[in-house]
Amino acid sequence: MKEQVLNKSAAASPLGDGTTRRIALFGSTGSIGRQALEVIAGNSSMFSVEVLTAYSNDELLIEQSLRFNPNIIVIGDEKKYQKVKEALSSTDIKIFAGEKALEEVASMDCYDLMLAAIVGYAGLRPVLRAIGNGKSVALANKETLVVAGDIIMRKAVENRVPVIPVDSEHSAIFQCLVGEMRNKIEKIILTASGGPFLGRKPNYLVNVKREHALQHPNWNMGAKITIDSATLMNKGLEMIEARWLFNLNPDQIQVVIHPQSIIHSMVQFEDGSIKAQMGLPDMKLPIQYALAFPRRIPNTFPRYDFKKYNTLTFEEPDLRTFRNLGLAMDALNKGGNLPAVMNAANEIAVYAFLRNRVNFLDMTDVIEKTMQKVSFIQTPTLEEYFESDGMARNYAADLIKL
Ligand code: NAD
Ligand code: MG
Repeated sequence: MKEQVLNKSAAASPLGDGTTRRIALFGSTGSIGRQALEVIAGNSSMFSVEVLTAYSNDELLIEQSLRFNPNIIVIGDEKKYQKVKEALSSTDIKIFAGEKALEEVASMDCYDLMLAAIVGYAGLRPVLRAIGNGKSVALANKETLVVAGDIIMRKAVENRVPVIPVDSEHSAIFQCLVGEMRNKIEKIILTASGGPFLGRKPNYLVNVKREHALQHPNWNMGAKITIDSATLMNKGLEMIEARWLFNLNPDQIQVVIHPQSIIHSMVQFEDGSIKAQMGLPDMKLPIQYALAFPRRIPNTFPRYDFKKYNTLTFEEPDLRTFRNLGLAMDALNKGGNLPAVMNAANEIAVYAFLRNRVNFLDMTDVIEKTMQKVSFIQTPTLEEYFESDGMARNYAADLIKL
């Protein structure tokens, strides 16, 4: 009888634990957020949407709220609050506004797992709150770990909170590590597509315009990460992200250019054996893996066919042309507040490039000068990470005369 009851509850919930996983989707109007909602819509018996947040896209937030009927939503831009409230007046959805509200909602008890899909430094504080609150975090927001990875991962361990990567490379490594808990990693190999300017030299890059840099060959993503992919800063941020997620030394992290983006990354163990995770480039796969972890859930996404795409190629990154990757390697090696400083300068530089205020190569100069200027701190406190971020932003903005 008891067995029957157990079987019945397992059948009722495909996640197997008798409950629906309640998701807090921070950054629901972005590229990751929208794809996560597609995954959730396709698996509505497994997941419920408890929280949605957006910064300024009130119209999409309203549309998503009417469709998924969350418990709580937050609109970051307070000027949009009234409009959102009126549009949802016939529902019982609780509506908050402003930056502080993001943190307050992250501290609430109504959800099981936060999908951290806000872009940039703005995503850090809600993640800290979720971890402090004992909630699992599916992490797309790599900047959180770049800024304060040591503190984030330490707090996650203290609070027994799983941090499950969503970034495709890190999801690949995470998947390769299933069943390998006792085995040491010799190194990890992060694959990089190389972006739209693979093979180009500085004399070409100097004239690259915003529209061109926003065309990524393999992935359709938000504007900031698309520019980071074109400069290879994205791979640098990912090296630092990997260091903290998998507790590695800098010299255990290697980058290889793989333009087809079929191998999403690899782990090499102490016996020389290499495991790779492969598939077509589609962020919905790592998103659904993180949401349903440790389960795999069936889907109908297109499959990789070895007969159709039978050439996979690999090459060294060109660090002399794509100097941002070299700067990130420096930050990774030196550690301390340098990755936080680099991240802040990069955010300012990318937004200036997106507004046509600096050219493509100027972004690197802004980052390099800011990294030289802000005082180095070897073991920063959380407060010192915040201060380093602020100082770097001010300095970088002054350089650009924003
Ligand atoms: P996006 O620009 O498409 O979306 C960003 C989301 O964050 C939006 O919902 C926006 O409203 C919200 N947001 C922006 N600024 C905010 C602020 N100041 N306060 C509160 N909310 C704010 O970005 P994206 O491409 O979805 O990327 C999100 C994160 O995931 C980034 O850290 C990125 O590096 C990472 N990531 C994205 C992809 C991808 O395929 N898009 C892949 C790997 C990792
Ligand atoms: Mg990635």
